[in-house]
Amino acid sequence: MIINPYESAKKKIDIAAELINLNPNSLEYLKKTERALIVSIPLMMDDGSLEIFEGFRVHHSTLRGPGKGGIRYSPFVTLDMMKALALLMTFKTALLGLPLGGSKGGIRVDTKKLSNKELETLTRRYTMEIINMIGPDKDIAAPDMYTDSRTMAWMMDTYSMQKGRTITGVVTGKPIEIGGSIGRDEAPGTGMIYLLQHLCQKLNYNLDKMSVVIQGFGKVGSVVAKQLCNNSCNVIAISEEEGGIYSPDGLDIDTLIKWKKQGNLLKEYEGKNTSPITNDELLSTKCDVLIPAAVENQIYSRNADKIDCKILLEGANSPTTSQADKILEEKEIVVVPDILANSGGICVSYFEYIQDLQSYFWKLDRVNSEMKTILINTFEDIYKFSKKRDTSLRTAAYAISTNRLAKAHELRGLFP
Ligand code: GLU
Repeated sequence: MIINPYESAKKKIDIAAELINLNPNSLEYLKKTERALIVSIPLMMDDGSLEIFEGFRVHHSTLRGPGKGGIRYSPFVTLDMMKALALLMTFKTALLGLPLGGSKGGIRVDTKKLSNKELETLTRRYTMEIINMIGPDKDIAAPDMYTDSRTMAWMMDTYSMQKGRTITGVVTGKPIEIGGSIGRDEAPGTGMIYLLQHLCQKLNYNLDKMSVVIQGFGKVGSVVAKQLCNNSCNVIAISEEEGGIYSPDGLDIDTLIKWKKQGNLLKEYEGKNTSPITNDELLSTKCDVLIPAAVENQIYSRNADKIDCKILLEGANSPTTSQADKILEEKEIVVVPDILANSGGICVSYFEYIQDLQSYFWKLDRVNSEMKTILINTFEDIYKFSKKRDTSLRTAAYAISTNRLAKAHELRGLFP
C-alpha cells in the first residue's frame, strides 16, 4: 500500500487543529511548505561514466527561526517525503520551544553503490547547488539516514570555501574537532532512554524487568539497544533492513555491534537460543516496549492490530500512520510520538549551534543534563495536556506545537 508521506503528516495537524479549534487561515498556513528546491547533481563516476542524481532542500517553516533539519541519502527520497519530514521538523522544534523552524533535504541515491570519493564529490556539488538555501541564520543542516559527521564536515567545508571563511554553524552533527558537540551522535538514543525511564517511573513499571524489541540497528537503534543492555534490560529482538535476530533470553548487543562491524548481517548471527526473524515478525513480537527506529510507515492499518506491547517509543520519524494510531489507541498502547521521542537529536543540534556561535564548548554532563531537562519538561506538558483533554500523547504534542506556531504567526502578521 502506498502512503503519501506529506498527506499523512498533514493529517496529524488536522487532528490537533480540530481539538484546539484552530482558525482555518492558520491551519492552511501551517500545512503549506514555505519553499522547496529541486536540483540535479551531475557526478563523474570512478569508471568515467556520468550519472545525474536528484537532490532537494525544503523549508517547511522559518516562522520561529532559521530552518533546521537533516540531509537524507536514500533511493526512496522524493519531494513529498522531504516536505513531510520538513513539516515534522517544524513541529518538533516548536514542541521543544527551540527558536528554530523546520527543513529537510536529501539526494535520491543508494550510498552502498558509491565509493568514498564519489560520495564526497556528490556531497560537495549538492552543497553548492543548495548554497543559497542554507546558512547559520537561514537554514542549518544535520545528519539523517545514510549521512553522518563526515558528510557534515564536507558540507561545512564546501560552504566555508565559498564564503571565504570558516562558518561552522551551517551544519550540526559535525566531528567534535571542527565544532561538533560532544554527545550529539548518541543524542537521539540518549534522549529516548531518559524518556523511557521517566515514563516507566510514572506508570509504575520496572524498566529493568521489561522486554524490548527494536526495529533498526543504525544511529538510533544501536545506541538505544546498547544503553538498554547496559541498564540490564532484555532486548529480545533487533533488526535491520535485511531482517533481524530474536532470543527470548535477551541479546548481547555489544557482540552484535562487533558482528556488524565485521560486515555481517544480523540474521546470520548464531548465538545461544537465537533465531533469525523478519521485520514483519519482529513488529508483532510480544514485548513490553517496541521501538521502531528504522523508516516511515512501518506500523499501518494492516499490521497495527498485531502490535503486542505496552509502550511504543518512536525512534524513527513517522513510523506510524494515522489509521494505525487509532487502532493502537483502542488497544491502549502508550505511544510516545516521534516529535518528542527522537528529539534528543535536534535538541543537541541546537546546543551545538549555540556552542558554535559562542565558540565555547560544553562538557558531556552539561549537554546531557540540559537535554534531559528539556525532554522531561516537554513530556510533562504533553502528558498533562493529554490527560486534561482525554487525547493521545501525539495529538497533545501536535496541539501544543500548533498553538505555539499559530501564536508566532499571529504576532508576526502577514507581509506585506
Ligand atoms: N535528522 C534528525 C531528525 O530528524 C536531526 C535533525 C537535526 O538535528 O537538525 O530529527
